[in-house]
Amino acid sequence: MKNLITWMAALSALCALSGALLAAGGAEDARMKAIDKKVDALLKKMTIEEKVGQMTQVTIDVVSQGADGKKEPHALDPAKLERAILQYHVGSILNVSNAWYSVDHWHEIIRAIQDLATTKTRLGIPVLYGIDAIHGANYTQGATLFPQAIALAATWDPDIARRVGEVTSLEVRACGIPWNFYPVLDLGRQPLWPRLWETFGEDVYLARAMGTAYVRGAMGDDMSAKDKVAPCLKHFAGYSFPLSGKDRTPAWIDERMMREYFLPTFEAGVKAGVPTVMINSSEINGIPGHANYHLITEVLKQEWGFQGFVVSDWADISRLYSRDRVASSPKEAVRIAVMAGVDMSMVPLDYSFYDYLLELVKEKTVPVSRIDDAVRRILRVKFLVGLFDRPYPDPSLRAGVASARSTEFNRQAAVEAITLLKNVKNVLPLSKSARLLVTGPTANMLSVLNGGWTITWQGNDESLYPAEKLTILEAIRAVAGERNVAYVPGATFDQPVDFEAAVAAAETSDVIIACLGEKAYCETPGNIDDLTLDEAQLSLVERLAGTGKPIVLVLAEGRPRVIRQIVDDVQGIVLAYLPGMEGGTAVADILFGDAVPCGRLPLSYPRHPNALLAYDAKTLDLADGNAYNPEFPFGFGLTYTTFEYSDMVLDQKSFGLDDSVTVSVLVKNTGARAAKEVVQLYATDLHRSITPPVRELKAFSKVLLRPGETKRVSFVVKPADLSFIGLAYKRVVEKGTFRFSIGTLSQEAELR
Ligand code: BGC
Repeated sequence: MKNLITWMAALSALCALSGALLAAGGAEDARMKAIDKKVDALLKKMTIEEKVGQMTQVTIDVVSQGADGKKEPHALDPAKLERAILQYHVGSILNVSNAWYSVDHWHEIIRAIQDLATTKTRLGIPVLYGIDAIHGANYTQGATLFPQAIALAATWDPDIARRVGEVTSLEVRACGIPWNFYPVLDLGRQPLWPRLWETFGEDVYLARAMGTAYVRGAMGDDMSAKDKVAPCLKHFAGYSFPLSGKDRTPAWIDERMMREYFLPTFEAGVKAGVPTVMINSSEINGIPGHANYHLITEVLKQEWGFQGFVVSDWADISRLYSRDRVASSPKEAVRIAVMAGVDMSMVPLDYSFYDYLLELVKEKTVPVSRIDDAVRRILRVKFLVGLFDRPYPDPSLRAGVASARSTEFNRQAAVEAITLLKNVKNVLPLSKSARLLVTGPTANMLSVLNGGWTITWQGNDESLYPAEKLTILEAIRAVAGERNVAYVPGATFDQPVDFEAAVAAAETSDVIIACLGEKAYCETPGNIDDLTLDEAQLSLVERLAGTGKPIVLVLAEGRPRVIRQIVDDVQGIVLAYLPGMEGGTAVADILFGDAVPCGRLPLSYPRHPNALLAYDAKTLDLADGNAYNPEFPFGFGLTYTTFEYSDMVLDQKSFGLDDSVTVSVLVKNTGARAAKEVVQLYATDLHRSITPPVRELKAFSKVLLRPGETKRVSFVVKPADLSFIGLAYKRVVEKGTFRFSIGTLSQEAELR
């Protein structure tokens, strides 16, 4: 066996402690000390009731008019608000039900809350309002609504993710909201899971690069700046890998797998200074996320040195009793969660958490020291995000909401995400004078381009979408003209509508654009029993294929729905994912060649519903005739030009532990269009003490090349980049031979 080097574990703990939040040296250090002084001073003055109140978060319905508080648009009920803030001292309010509000309406809501909290309470602690602005400020009218995370990941461009973070922060903060429950840093390794599209895909390296870039944009250098928000990493940890594929169902993830695949994105987010973390709503190895002392306290807070606060997910503390049955009463559920390390409870519909926690403290079953720790963390974040200095909305930010620049950037982000998966005989790009038939259930809807968390939780109320944004059909017509574009729905998501009419229209068309996919959904309502796309949609394409006319599929979907049955019947496949509000326009840009595709798959697109291997499979996965055999592999994507790779060079064939190796390659655009190529570096550890994956992404770079242009692309690989979770469940580097590959080229080097 090769030498085992365990310094990586120590190194990673050290890095966590020196993360941007609270522990970075110099000016930042001094600022943190000043904040902690203020926090301590405040804490000393607080009663136990005020402390427990800070740990309590209720949803806006609880303080709004109407019997259940759900009346839209929400209008605050002064008596209910007083009860929440004056009687229960709540530290946080969240959400909105099913509507998006004008910036003005948000200002009214936030002002009323902060007026009460800062002027009518004893200590004047502002309320931390939190919202799920997951692809832009999705509860704000007219906001810039970007491609969802899975599509952002397909851009393979961290700078796009960073800018999305920036614009989102500005638009959320413009409403007076300082806290965003985003990003989702769960790893998307279970294609059935209805929240797959909220993730940055199946690979640790790519998801970490995109996720940390997003949070850098969201927080900037100083979260208290007027246009920044506090992000929230969710859902810690292992939520995305349910065995059944259904949302909020059990996962079985051992410590090695957890540390290898599901923790690194979160650890990177913590190191980047993200001040809040939301807990996994389901269970791992029989332990509910909210009862997991090991993950929350030992790993997140102790090992990584996280100094921010941990918030529960929706109603999940009470579910420890009502659903998970690890608590024998609702009060015991509160004790378990708080002692596991949860600092704030998204209760969210009543004050039960407050009442029980107060009793538990008085009975001494929850020590005051734990309460002080939680409240200290919460107050710290309120200071960090500038809430004490600026509790009210800043009207000057309003002008920046949905600016023309952001809209243009949004279109560009969507263009860079869209991934061309098949293009036989260059059926694409289309001629602008071709006669087209547009058909299929995703052709003429905006909801299918945006997905869940858009205007409403499920995102599926088409009537609420802005009329001025273009569906795929409208965008195609805007380019090719009404006259040249026939539209026949063909099928709904799961029912044939008018196959005969579609076939008849196809006969008089040059090319068929079949827009298939999924309706908008989110969380549990998006559960499915079969990854295969609905039969009605597949049959529509089969019928159309009978005409012999070329078919281009456009897929608008949050998960890679299996389309094996029709892949060989079509000439072109364009995967749009959930490309956001400018997605229709971006699809047309790609179809007609006004933009050149450069998206690459951030996941493996399965060929069969029961063959769901990720690309970084083990050798044993591929032994004895088994194979990684997806419809389209991770990292794949075509374009309208051709690239040639040559002259792969390693600067040294042998490198030491304190050293690095530089891998470089020449990339040439050998076609006729300028285009971006995503150069991907993979490494294979030939032998090691834990079975190595067949290959792992280690670096990537997106480069623009003009026709005929050649660039040398270089990557520096350090020994730490080749580390893995070893026998003792610690991150280690082992000496040995590594094979580096880029495209079809490969070279080996020895780590001494
Ligand atoms: C989701 C979270 C979300 C929370 C608040 C939960 O159902 O799992 O992702 O942040 O609701 O809306």
